[in-house]
Amino acid sequence: MIQQGQIIGIVGGGQLGQMLALDAKYTGMKVIVLDPTPGCPAGQVADDQIIAEYDDVKAIEELAQRVDVLTYEFENVDLTALRDVANRVYIPQGTNLLSITKNRLREKTFLRNAGLNTAPFMAVKDRTELEQAVKVIGYPAVLKTCEGGYDGHGQEVLHSDADLTKCEGILSTGNAILEGWVPFKLECSVMVGRNEDGEVTVFPVSENIHHDEILHISIVPARILPDLQEKAKKMVVKVAHAINLRGILGVEMFVDENGEIYINELAPRPHNSGHYSIEACDFSQFAIHNRAICNWPLPKIKLLHSVVMVNVLGQHVDGVRKLIAKKAGWHFHDYGKAEARYNRKMGHITILTDDIEKTLTEINDTHIWDK
Ligand code: AMP
Repeated sequence: MIQQGQIIGIVGGGQLGQMLALDAKYTGMKVIVLDPTPGCPAGQVADDQIIAEYDDVKAIEELAQRVDVLTYEFENVDLTALRDVANRVYIPQGTNLLSITKNRLREKTFLRNAGLNTAPFMAVKDRTELEQAVKVIGYPAVLKTCEGGYDGHGQEVLHSDADLTKCEGILSTGNAILEGWVPFKLECSVMVGRNEDGEVTVFPVSENIHHDEILHISIVPARILPDLQEKAKKMVVKVAHAINLRGILGVEMFVDENGEIYINELAPRPHNSGHYSIEACDFSQFAIHNRAICNWPLPKIKLLHSVVMVNVLGQHVDGVRKLIAKKAGWHFHDYGKAEARYNRKMGHITILTDDIEKTLTEINDTHIWDK
């Protein structure tokens, strides 16, 4: 068990690292982050920052040497560098989880082997394999790069043979996956934490609305029947055990008209759709991650209040700053990023509410998120 006063090292210094570090400070931990940007969001609140690229082996070795437990805030961590230091520092999450979740094909194959439902999928290396795969899977389908894609980048939705020509970019990676299109009614996600002792704790189901493939709003509890929520949570607990999880994991899912649930993606870290838990739950996703990697016992999570979370991207910052004077009850988070670029995640707002529909209307009525 990692003790209070010991040091947590975080690879990556974005907002997820920042919220992990803030939570760690509450419990008396020390935090060192590794990130190339001086004064990055997590660097602003950590005890120290090593300024270096994520794949800088020397810098990762230095981090490993200076901390008691090592974690990461995104999945694109350099696996080789992490494996290299694995025998020198405690990395509770291990490297297997990362290796599975870094690659869509490995991830979906793992889920299928664990008996969990996913969209139909096939590995596709080139145009010939793509043509064969669409014959099996049918249209509509979506072709994705196996690695490196995020928020809809590296994906092409295919409606007919005419769309096959659009796939050259993705096929040039030589490593793609074709998935059947799930006609989902809604998208949701569940955060789950597990520690070294195998204790598991699961968060409520979040309903997620995306704009331009980027998370826009999360609504908790999701507007689906309670037994579907329970079904989703059971699936997620099954994933946590099957993958021998230590730490927090975000599981993204589709729910269709018939109440069928498909797991789409795993995120081996805190997730944007779990930010609501800071104010709406008795323990946040960040607190659970820190407890889990320190092998502290895990509590049963209580949702204290229904909640809506809305993301603040670069184009929303000016509007949101003016809103602060008008919304006394809203929790405004800002990650302290230097530059407010279009579609860059700059902060979020958490709104505890007794009337979700009314709150959604209130958000719409600000017109800040119209574009
Ligand atoms: P992903 O990068 O896999 O999370 O995909 C980004 C978004 O594309 C998802 O949030 C969905 O809205 C949509 N999407 C991806 N894969 C599928 C699929 N197989 N069926 C339906 N929608 C999908």
